[in-house]
Amino acid sequence: MSIIQCAACGAIVPHYDTVNTVSEGHGDRLLCTACFNREMAHHTGLDDFGEVKFKPVHLSDANGTVHEFHIRSLLFGDKLSLEAFDSTSEEEPSGYRFQIIGDPLSDQFVLLGKLIEKMRRLLAIAHVRDSDLGLQIVDETVRGRIEWDGFENSRRPCVVIDGRRVEWDELGRMLMPFEGWQFKLEVRDPSDEI
Ligand SMILES: [Zn+2]
Repeated sequence: MSIIQCAACGAIVPHYDTVNTVSEGHGDRLLCTACFNREMAHHTGLDDFGEVKFKPVHLSDANGTVHEFHIRSLLFGDKLSLEAFDSTSEEEPSGYRFQIIGDPLSDQFVLLGKLIEKMRRLLAIAHVRDSDLGLQIVDETVRGRIEWDGFENSRRPCVVIDGRRVEWDELGRMLMPFEGWQFKLEVRDPSDEI
């Protein structure tokens, strides 16, 4: 796990607990979530906003594998984003991620409850399974997340399905049993439930 020093308060925090910011006067800075929220609250006049630190949450997926999720809240203007992400996927594009948007002045534990309900619903669905021929699509719908494949100079995506990184070519191979079928591709905001 990589650690980073916050450019404002000097705290040493894990990479997932940082936000890269660009602002006039300060340029590029990596801030800890707490400093980011404090500055955002100040700029938007939300002086009543209180930072809540959540403990990690453990939930199992459709295969019974237990995942540890880090939770963080990020203030974006008049919206609060509560995000949960797999602790095994802090740096590479893999692992489950969930997000919910709420009112920054509402009870953040109520919002956390809603996020956990959403996580349970989505974790209960398995879209892919292992087979002798590699990864296979279980049904006729696949939900996932688009990520960059991380190779230098690459403009190619990879996708994350059921918390697993799937390479672009692999996704193509997984679609071949459906040769001749139609498909519908919709891209949606990270906080939407699809
Ligand atoms: Zn800080």
